[in-house]
Amino acid sequence: MKMKKKQVCFDCLVPLRKVKTKIRGIEMDSSECPKCGAKVFTEEQATEAALKVDAQRLKKQYSKKMIKIGNSWGLTFPKGLADVFRLNNNKTKMTLIPNLKENIIEIKIEN
Ligand SMILES: [Zn+2]
Repeated sequence: MKMKKKQVCFDCLVPLRKVKTKIRGIEMDSSECPKCGAKVFTEEQATEAALKVDAQRLKKQYSKKMIKIGNSWGLTFPKGLADVFRLNNNKTKMTLIPNLKENIIEIKIEN
């Protein structure tokens, strides 16, 4: 079992306390040294913070029209979506999952 070790300030060597930090208007969990006030993000907190920043860049919905490409039909992805989901390379694998009942095509992205 992996033990969760207590985070300490690199300078003061005192245990950090959990605080809420606002960065670019987004509230995030972080840790703070009660002595020198240094703010530290644990790996978990940094991952969570990055997700929140990414989520802020995305709209709830995008309205798109299909584009005819030869005999197929294509769909372009807005830059925000492409950036956040790292679609901007041809190694990204996308799986289309049709849901006839709900009239939805889900796209699973592996990269
Ligand atoms: Zn400190």
